[in-house]
Amino acid sequence: MSTRTSTTAVFAADASAGGQALCPVVGADLQVPLVTGGSLRYANLDYAASAPALGTVASHLATALPYYASVHRGAGYASQVSTALLENSRACVGRFVGARPDDVVVFVRNTTDALNLLASAVPSGGSVLYLDIEHHANLTPWQRRGDVVLEAAPTLRETLRDLDDALRLTPTALVAVTGASNVTGEVLPVREIAAIAHRHGARVAVDAAQLAPHRRISLADWGVDYLAFSGHKLYAPYGAGVLVGRRDWLDAAPAYLAGGGAVREVTTQSTDWAAAPARHEAGTPNVLGAAALAKACETLAEAGGAAVEAHETALRERLLVGLAQYAEISVLKIWPDAEEAIGVVAFTVARYDAGLVAAYLSAEHAIGVRDGRFCAHPLLARLRLGRDGAVRASFGVGSTLADVDRLVAALEQLLRCRPDHQYEVRDGRYAPVDDPRGLPDFAGPGAGVASPCEGA
Ligand code: PLP
Repeated sequence: MSTRTSTTAVFAADASAGGQALCPVVGADLQVPLVTGGSLRYANLDYAASAPALGTVASHLATALPYYASVHRGAGYASQVSTALLENSRACVGRFVGARPDDVVVFVRNTTDALNLLASAVPSGGSVLYLDIEHHANLTPWQRRGDVVLEAAPTLRETLRDLDDALRLTPTALVAVTGASNVTGEVLPVREIAAIAHRHGARVAVDAAQLAPHRRISLADWGVDYLAFSGHKLYAPYGAGVLVGRRDWLDAAPAYLAGGGAVREVTTQSTDWAAAPARHEAGTPNVLGAAALAKACETLAEAGGAAVEAHETALRERLLVGLAQYAEISVLKIWPDAEEAIGVVAFTVARYDAGLVAAYLSAEHAIGVRDGRFCAHPLLARLRLGRDGAVRASFGVGSTLADVDRLVAALEQLLRCRPDHQYEVRDGRYAPVDDPRGLPDFAGPGAGVASPCEGA
């Protein structure tokens, strides 16, 4: 009996120019109401925060769900299926990121969880160096430990030189760096950073929350020691993420969570902890989240790294050309010499608060973007943006040129004609005045809760 979901024929025949989605995603035809009446197909341009589920992922889970049962010590047939699913998913995720044979794949909740686990595993006395351009997930765990922050220089080249100098002067156990900025999409030269770190005896950890969905990664080839990423940004929004990397620190570290599943033997006096990954996976594991993540990895691998990159590059180019038509729009960039970027573009619109632009795009055009400071306050401060921040459009394998064109057309309309509707600030967020749009019944009443982090 085969429980594999075939992914053949799920890739668009001709998606090379971004004209159609590269891979089907759930919700691609979603219709959402407009504040001005009627409805429109939702243009999801917020993949960097959370990407929609791949169609293959949803059908894989529908296949697996009837077999869902306890793992590892369950004697029943369904338990054996679930255990195999979990452990094969672990192996699949490791293959997707080019893990070395002795690397460990630890399932966690998300990138934040993975980086906090890593922070607890750095050998005692070991110092960590991180940049000030990071998402808070790769900044606050180190800041809290009292580690060393390196201010990014005006150019990427100078930043790498500063990194080299800093590592020469200060003994460092780990360099923790993002693979791609969640604000500007700029890709960091991870291979080169790993070589610099290793030259000075430091390891390198990559926050791949943004990079992994957009570029093929190889820990072995790139010399990356640890990698963290989230399922919900990689088309598998079922609550799993991973930390992948070298076994020695993870085996020596205190169990990330104390509890069942992380132990070999327990007496009333003491505990003999298991080796990683079990050591850091106490409690009942998220089998379906792991299976979803593995299926997403498999689908992206089948789509091909080059095809994913070409698709997103076409969309990014189209958006940048579109935005460049308007003097009022400024696209954010960290470094003038950063050559590569993923499908993440942040910008400001003169005369309009970012929050108002985002509310307008949603209410009048059914376009979902993010606004704020994207959980990267130090970077936004560095880019001289106030608390209102910027607007961010982000896309991936389910996006099309039509989505991008709709965004550009909506921005043109805003600049030429102003919004059709009135907006007010409510609970710290812009919202349409007298918004007639209700939520679907299954969601319950709208909570209007403001995010503590103003967007991821
Ligand atoms: N790192 C980067 C670069 C991100 O963009 C994000 C989320 O936006 C995170 C880390 C945190 O990811 P998560 O919320 O899944 O833990």
